Amino acid sequence: MSTSTRAGLVVENPASGTVLRTVPLVGPAQVLETVRWARAAQPAWVALGFPGRAAIMRRAQRWILDNAERVISTVVSETGKTYEDAQSTDLAYTVQALSFWAAHAERYLEDERLRSFSSPIVAGKRLVLRHVPIGVVAVIGPWNFPLVNGFGDCIPALMAGNGVILKPSEVTPLSSLLMVEMFAECGMPRDVFQVITGEGSTGAALINCVDAVMFTGSTRTGRLVARAAAEAMIPCHLELGGKDPMIVCADADLAKAAQAAAYYSMNNAGQVCTSIERVYVEAPVYEEFVQRVVKIVGSLRQGPPTGPGTVDVGAVIFGPQLEIVERHVNDALVKGARALTGAHARAGQGRFYEPTVLVDVDHTMDVMREETFGPVVPIMRVSDVEEAIRLANDSPYGLQASVFSRDSARGEQIARRLEAGSVCVNSAQLNYFALNLPMGGWKASGLGARHGIGGIRKYCRTQSLFVSGFGPRRELFMFPYRRRVTRMILRGLRLLYGRGSRR
Ligand code: NDP
Repeated sequence: MSTSTRAGLVVENPASGTVLRTVPLVGPAQVLETVRWARAAQPAWVALGFPGRAAIMRRAQRWILDNAERVISTVVSETGKTYEDAQSTDLAYTVQALSFWAAHAERYLEDERLRSFSSPIVAGKRLVLRHVPIGVVAVIGPWNFPLVNGFGDCIPALMAGNGVILKPSEVTPLSSLLMVEMFAECGMPRDVFQVITGEGSTGAALINCVDAVMFTGSTRTGRLVARAAAEAMIPCHLELGGKDPMIVCADADLAKAAQAAAYYSMNNAGQVCTSIERVYVEAPVYEEFVQRVVKIVGSLRQGPPTGPGTVDVGAVIFGPQLEIVERHVNDALVKGARALTGAHARAGQGRFYEPTVLVDVDHTMDVMREETFGPVVPIMRVSDVEEAIRLANDSPYGLQASVFSRDSARGEQIARRLEAGSVCVNSAQLNYFALNLPMGGWKASGLGARHGIGGIRKYCRTQSLFVSGFGPRRELFMFPYRRRVTRMILRGLRLLYGRGSRR
């Protein structure tokens, strides 16, 4: 949590309430200056070439592992998440992403030679598609994964040859600042990568002076970012909220499905854009599934993390989020839901919400419709898979979904009918670690995707080269126009394209 004073942003540990540090509150004039520095530094960064940039990323990868305790403790201190959540996501993803983009950027962005078969007029010409770094990219990140969602997007943007300005959430800026230190030690030229700390207005000012923006956060702010990007006429890529459904078929391995439901709804205290936020279970296995989930969730340990293996569920990172979680659970209880575990903010030190399993839920309740983003798993009985699919798709969001069935082919058939950018069969969230597989939302969950070939090309402009070598001085269609030639061209067009159907 942070509060702003004239001196800057005060960063707090949400698990203990202690003040960690004050960081600068960067204003619009300074934002402009920062972008100018990045513009000045960017040409030399491009000139370094892919191997030069990859070498720095590989050094950074090594640096993170050499400094793993420091990286994890920084993430844990400003988020109040568990040691394991910081290690298995923020740390593990970052080293993997540094390695992945260092290895693949050059191949993903190499010139493409296209065949000149589309028309006789272009036959024999050289057609080349280039991917040119766009210039200076703004990455605006949220507070749930300070390294994955903010810094992680900087890596492909940098490997493409751009200058990058990262604006982390005001709540969690310290991990991003550590990355500046890391890159400096790893030989990154000055000003290529910069972090500006500030509030929403700092992010808004940044959009006005960069060449592209990658934003992760709420759908509400995402819409503001898209509007600002439209005004600035720059591309924007948005990864927004989700309300990810899980479907449990009657033939599912229930032990596996229950473990997944408990883990992927409670890891990072449910503050994951791809959290399982609602579960639909076929009636014959509903009771057993609920019992299994309650047994796991009911035994989870919660509290301020004091090292590896000490707690399972960490803090609510952002103060106002606790109110959202409480509002959703209370709304459900008033409308007839039952809580089988939790359903309270935890008394005592820090900001925690008890791991909560809700049953007897339906789509009149906010907890089944809006992003809760907390340690809450509502489970709904459905008569069959058709009803589950209909309810899963009954959402303004479409980020991710998961399906559990022992018959993975049938699971895949169900997955294909779900309105979501990514669907996992017999797992959840793990697709995020398949960095060659695009990940992006449908509907109100976003625009564009991260990862895969598009996950780096989006930080480039394309340039099409049309190169003519030898050829006639005067093309047949050029001046002066002559009746005979005009007729001949029409005959040629009929010969080439005249076989289309008249019906
Ligand atoms: P926001 O979407 O408001 O903030 C995300 C980032 O955008 C932060 O860095 C924020 O800065 C910045 N920002 C805020 N306003 C603007 C603006 N006008 N222009 C540019 N940047 C801006 O998320 P919140 O932190 O308020 O969380 C709200 C909700 O978002 C949560 O309840 C949750 O549902 C969802 N969420 C989704 C995430 C995901 O991964 N998809 C991650 C986090 C939250 P600052 O923090 O300094 O205000």
